[in-house]
Amino acid sequence: MKIIMLGAPGAGKGTQAKKIADKYSIPHISTGDIFRANIKEGTELGKKAKTYMDQGLLVPDDLVVDLVVDRVQQDDCKNGYVLDGFPRTIPQAESLDAALEKLNDKIDYAVNVEVPDENIIRRMSGRRACLGCGATYHIEHIPPKTEGICDTCGKELVLRDDDKPETVKKRLDVYHEQTQPLIDYYTKKNVLAEVDGTKDMEEVFQDIVKVLGA
Ligand code: AMP
Repeated sequence: MKIIMLGAPGAGKGTQAKKIADKYSIPHISTGDIFRANIKEGTELGKKAKTYMDQGLLVPDDLVVDLVVDRVQQDDCKNGYVLDGFPRTIPQAESLDAALEKLNDKIDYAVNVEVPDENIIRRMSGRRACLGCGATYHIEHIPPKTEGICDTCGKELVLRDDDKPETVKKRLDVYHEQTQPLIDYYTKKNVLAEVDGTKDMEEVFQDIVKVLGA
């Protein structure tokens, strides 16, 4: 099963993508995670991506398309995958479709996790990420056992630069302008499934499972 997660930054699509990957035993491919790992390792790709990410802008399409097209052709993707954070623009979606078509393949579902902007801004200002292992928490909904410290690795938790309120506002503008048109794109391809992302995390997941099948 080949799945794309759509939704604004902070809609919870990453959390749902991980749960889907676990349930269906398919890899979770997050372009944001790939970029963050590259930043941490100080690679050329990481350096280039960081300048855009810190401003709440999208990384240029040519830096992300080949990376994903290569990734989905690896062995562990044979039975499917869940893409989280890609595609984020119409040209990215078209490039992915063209690459899949060459492989006689296609996306089965694009799951849109719908959450209004006001909720997103509230959620993201409470998000905290671990400087060590990248685990994410929320000061209200998923608090760590000890305030400011990662449960898993004991390192400090911070508000990511791209989760700061001014950056969130910018990311939402970018989302509405460049990513939201994908909802129409996948509707026309008859693969769009909408879920209400304001519900409790577990309920959202059950709604997604209803669409994908047990
Ligand atoms: P995320 O963790 O998915 O919210 O991604 C964090 C940041 O990485 C985004 O705000 C973008 O700057 C960059 N990014 C991730 N995926 C993409 C993509 N498919 N296209 C362009 N930029 C991306």
